[in-house]
Amino acid sequence: MRIYNSLTRQIEEFEPLAEGKAGMYTCGPTVYDYAHIGHARKYVYDDLLRRVLSANGLEVMHVQNVTDVGHLVSDADEGEDKLEKGAREMKRTVWEAAEFFTRDFYKMADSMNILRPTITARATDHIKEQTDLIQKLVQKGFAYETPEAVYFDVGKFPRYGLLFGQKLADKQVAVREEVKTGEHKRHPADFALWFKRVGRFADHQMHWESPWGDGFPGWHIECSAMSMKYLGESFDIHTGGEDHLPVHHPNEIAQAEAATGKLLARYWVHHAFLLIDGQKMSKSLGNYYRVEDVAEKGFDPMALRYLYLTAHYRSPQNFTWSALAAAQTAYDKLNKFVKDSGSNPPAGRAGIQDIRIQLSKEKAKKLDQYRLRFEEAVNNDLQFPRALAVMWEMMKSNIPDYDKADALRDWDEILGLRLGALKSEEVQIPEQIREMSQKREILRRDGKFVEADELRVEMEKLGWGIEDAAKGSRIVKLKHI
Ligand code: AMP
Ligand code: ZN
Repeated sequence: MRIYNSLTRQIEEFEPLAEGKAGMYTCGPTVYDYAHIGHARKYVYDDLLRRVLSANGLEVMHVQNVTDVGHLVSDADEGEDKLEKGAREMKRTVWEAAEFFTRDFYKMADSMNILRPTITARATDHIKEQTDLIQKLVQKGFAYETPEAVYFDVGKFPRYGLLFGQKLADKQVAVREEVKTGEHKRHPADFALWFKRVGRFADHQMHWESPWGDGFPGWHIECSAMSMKYLGESFDIHTGGEDHLPVHHPNEIAQAEAATGKLLARYWVHHAFLLIDGQKMSKSLGNYYRVEDVAEKGFDPMALRYLYLTAHYRSPQNFTWSALAAAQTAYDKLNKFVKDSGSNPPAGRAGIQDIRIQLSKEKAKKLDQYRLRFEEAVNNDLQFPRALAVMWEMMKSNIPDYDKADALRDWDEILGLRLGALKSEEVQIPEQIREMSQKREILRRDGKFVEADELRVEMEKLGWGIEDAAKGSRIVKLKHI
């Protein structure tokens, strides 16, 4: 498959580091407010990328962080920690707010049929990994301590100003608050690795002991520390919103590469925004809708997912209710078609393993060509709008309905539209089971197969099984315990 790499600014053939596997890290949500449909678009496209990798036979290890500390608000908002601000507004502790909005995020993700990451990593669960990395940077001379913070010294990392084709001078304008403030900084683009609990952060609720005193980590260090912990010092793919191009991602690369001498990830994928009235839909602008708002208006979250498929991930998409209504109509048609076409082969075809043998040669060839064109589209930098066009072309063709539905079901492994699914089939997986499965993935990765098997047995006792397939593990509800 081919994918656009923001590092080299060209579409490249994807070649994984380890044969048959793909390590993918996704910058996750900052959990200080509700997830909106702008987030949904971005995470649906991460999900599509993951599904395309799987469809290419790769076992995907997908790690996603949850930022629950250290991410400061925009320049205009005086540089407070977003979490502290969000918690104050809802009159809860930061810990409660983080828990509440993390749940909200994954509720949104589940409703959009976004596969849960193999590993979900909260920043506050990985403070030691972050302080260890900062210590390494200090020892190697890439970081320095001031009375208010520990900063990364961009002057020591010459590549910093060149990453993603950004100029260092541009960054001084685009930087976030933590980069701009700090009177003891050597360079305006130096960014905080660790904030001390002094001055404006003297009352910061979340804080930990560190070699530099009581404080909390800066936002960027979590992603370098956690991605390397789970995926190794160099891994395959890193994704994020295009707002991460000027600051967050160069910072992640600088921190990791300064510490290890290796490039953090080889392919960097960035998603364009969902707009509303031509403006970015965002928490801070307050111009957003949630998936729940969409559902309350009678739309199916899968129609929203369909709408996202109609625009390429590197182009901004403008959200309108009329576009969503059109997506709902198209989605209903597909869904009904798959439901009505059933899963049993028509009379005369039963018992034959490859049902296409019984299609006329000409129709079988036509169907193969549609399948090939669909695959080519999704494998060429996730061209889903083109894949949808191929799909509708097939729908209008004279291929028998059963075979059309068969192709749609196969394609839906990638599209993730739950075509033909009955609501009752959706199973809620308890958090405890998800955590056990996550632990098991880590054990397996570390070669601890005996312990991993023990966990599997424990899960089975609780009524949940794990199916290990080439596409990665899947949690399933056991019918008979
Ligand atoms: P946040 O939780 O605000 O840090 O955002 C998490 C991710 O969602 C980031 O990678 C953002 O780029 C992305 N994001 C936020 N708003 C939008 C939007 N309107 N459209 C697409 N992606 C967005
Ligand atoms: Zn990140």
